[in-house]
Amino acid sequence: MEVELLAITPNAEEVIERAGRTCYMSQGRISEKSASKFIRMLISKGHLSILEHAYATFRISGISRASTHQIVRHRLCSFSQKSQRYVTERDGDFVVPPSVRENERARTCFEESVTEAKGVYERLLELGIPREDARFVLPNAASSEIVLSANFRELRHVIVMRGSKEAQWEVREMVKRILMILKDKAPNVFFDLSVDANQYVEPCSSHSPE
Ligand SMILES: Cc1cc2nc3c(=O)[nH]c(=O)nc-3n(C[C@H](O)[C@H](O)[C@H](O)COP(=O)(O)OP(=O)(O)OC[C@H]3O[C@@H](n4cnc5c(N)ncnc54)[C@H](O)[C@@H]3O)c2cc1C
Repeated sequence: MEVELLAITPNAEEVIERAGRTCYMSQGRISEKSASKFIRMLISKGHLSILEHAYATFRISGISRASTHQIVRHRLCSFSQKSQRYVTERDGDFVVPPSVRENERARTCFEESVTEAKGVYERLLELGIPREDARFVLPNAASSEIVLSANFRELRHVIVMRGSKEAQWEVREMVKRILMILKDKAPNVFFDLSVDANQYVEPCSSHSPE
C-alpha cells in the first residue's frame, strides 16, 4: 500500500489559529510561537470546529476493495476511486492479508481462488460481457486506488476510529500512514494522537475522539 499526500492547506496551523482567535477577538496575541499553545488548548477543551478550516488530500493505492468499502462510509470525506466499470481489471493485483500470506496452505488456497476469479473475469469479457458485469466475479481482495479529501477535524475522527484495536488491519495501516504525514505537517493539530506499542492509534487527550 502507498499513501501519498497530494495537497494540504498552506500554513494550516496559522489558518486555524486565525480562525480560532476570531472567536475571542485575540488576533493581537498571534506571534511566531502562539499557534502551538492555542491550538492544543482548544483541542483539549473539545473546541474542534476550528480544525475544519484546514484540509488535506491523500492518494491511497494498493489497497483492497474490502478496505476502501469501509473508508467510503465516512460521509464527511470526499472520494474518487478507480472504477471497475471504466478500467479493466485484466492486469489488476490482489491484496493478500498477512494472516493468509503467513500460512502456506491458506496462501495456496487463496491464490487458486483469485487466479480462478481472474480467469472467469477474462472469459466473461471475451464472451462480450461488459466490464461492469464481469467485475461481479472479482473478490474483495482486488487492489484499488482512492483519493480522499477531508478537513482536519474529520481526519482526526477517521484516524481514531480506524486506527483503533477494533478496526481492520489494512484500514488501520492506512490511517497510521496518514497520521504520520499529518503529524509532520500540522504537529499541533495531531499532537494527542499517536501509535502505541501494539500499533494501534491511541488518543491521549480527553477530547479525542469527540
Ligand atoms: C470497528 C468498526 C466496525 C464497524 N462495523 C460495522 C458494521 O458491522 N456494519 C456497518 O454497517 N458499519 C460498520 N462500521 C462503520 C460505522 O458504523 C460507520 O458507518 C463508519 O465508521 C462511519 O463513521 P461515522 O458515521 O462516525 O463517521 P463519518 O461519516 O465520517 O461522520 C463523522 C461524524 O459526523 C457526524 N455525522 C455524520 N453524518 C451524520 C448524520 N447523518 N447525522 C448525525 N451526525 C452525523 C457524526 O458525529 C459522525 O461521527 C464499523 C466501523 C468501525 C470503526
